[in-house]
Amino acid sequence: MISNNRKKDFEIPKRLVDATTKWENIAKTRDKEAINDAIYKGMITAKGEKQYTVRDTLKAIYYNKCAYCEIIDHKPEVEHYRPKKAVTEDKNHGGYYWLCYEWTNLIPSCHYCNTDGGKGNQFPIMGTRVTSPSFENGVLDKNKCKAANPPLIDEAPYLFHPEVDKPETAFEFRDNGAIRGIDHLGRGRQTVKICNLNRTNLLEARQSVIDNYYEIISTTLKFYFDNIIDYNAFKNILNLLFKKIKINTKPEKKFSLLSIFIENNFDEIIIPLLETPKQQLIVKRAYRQFQNGTLILKD
Ligand SMILES: [Zn+2]
Repeated sequence: MISNNRKKDFEIPKRLVDATTKWENIAKTRDKEAINDAIYKGMITAKGEKQYTVRDTLKAIYYNKCAYCEIIDHKPEVEHYRPKKAVTEDKNHGGYYWLCYEWTNLIPSCHYCNTDGGKGNQFPIMGTRVTSPSFENGVLDKNKCKAANPPLIDEAPYLFHPEVDKPETAFEFRDNGAIRGIDHLGRGRQTVKICNLNRTNLLEARQSVIDNYYEIISTTLKFYFDNIIDYNAFKNILNLLFKKIKINTKPEKKFSLLSIFIENNFDEIIIPLLETPKQQLIVKRAYRQFQNGTLILKD
């Protein structure tokens, strides 16, 4: 997961805005059954075409990625950060039904992160749980529905919210693709657990990113030591690879958090994979030069 502050640059989908009265009624009557999934999923237009306006706006904001695991997903689900109908950790709660159409509570998620194998209705917190909506003169207080505002922020959720938190420094990766939470509050660890971010397909996909970098470096070293390529070609290939790692840290890229970690911890995660101290020294030095802008390439 990486942080995302792009929602402010997009209009709230009309479908949600149009549902304001229904939203008010759900908050007042506590009628969870009135929550209409069609509002998130799509609508039939006059021409018979489906328009997934809520989903597609979230998709655009999140660069077609699952907000939790960062896989590319062109048909993400509209996930409720705070679950709308039940809370696993509190059987008496009944869910945050009054946040059903709250824009800051909606996040695009892949099917697996959203459902029972992943997050489901889990929402563990460190603070005091909010159990009902706030009203101001009989009207739902929308400011108190926003994820970054009290009283919700004071729940101190374990699960990171990409639009409220800066989760980038709360995780580390292993060379087998495993992700681990490292922040002192344990939010990273809980986020990994809640969304099951070490499930096999994610582990393998992240490991293949690391393996791919290693294989390019390893092959380049072999060609250089076997005199198949000269020093300039060797540096050129490494330069291109280092640039590729940098490009992959961009928010629109799959697993960008992994690439951010590799960029910042190259010596710890990539260098130890190389077989000899000599290989390690050469590549370490080249990476240092790349970072300093002194990996000069001769013609
Ligand atoms: Zn996911």
